[in-house]
Amino acid sequence: MTSVAVAVAAGVLVGPWLRASIVASRLPSGDPARGRCPGCSRRVLAPDPGTTVSTALVGRCRACRQRIAAPTVVIEVLSAAVLGLLALRVHPLLVLAAAGLAAAGGIVLGAVDASTQGLPDKVLIPTLVAVAALLVAAGIVDHRPERLGSALAGAAAAFAG
Ligand SMILES: [Zn+2]
Repeated sequence: MTSVAVAVAAGVLVGPWLRASIVASRLPSGDPARGRCPGCSRRVLAPDPGTTVSTALVGRCRACRQRIAAPTVVIEVLSAAVLGLLALRVHPLLVLAAAGLAAAGGIVLGAVDASTQGLPDKVLIPTLVAVAALLVAAGIVDHRPERLGSALAGAAAAFAG
């Protein structure tokens, strides 16, 4: 059960990072409005890191209360629950790490997709590369390459879910 506790703790700890990724992906990029609240155009990301962090944590623009990200705790609870469940079902550790990463990426992509109807490559591609690398490492460590198929299927299921 130790791995489950560690996975749950990891889920809580990565929550703020997932939240920041969601906020960063949700705001439009490549135009002058980048980093501004979609509601009141006030800057909610950079250059002031304090504003970025507090906005990401609360999930709302500080000025007009426009919803920008999921409410506090929701992301953390979700990622902790998902990683805890994976730790119960998935072994060995490297495959668990890959599945957890895929799930975390899936949470970000799901939240971003729900709000913008578009999947950001800057989240999708690094996540896929990292998951693939972990799965390959797991296959090498295990000397059981046939595990890769089922692990990839699990990762795909995590993304689909
Ligand atoms: Zn605003």
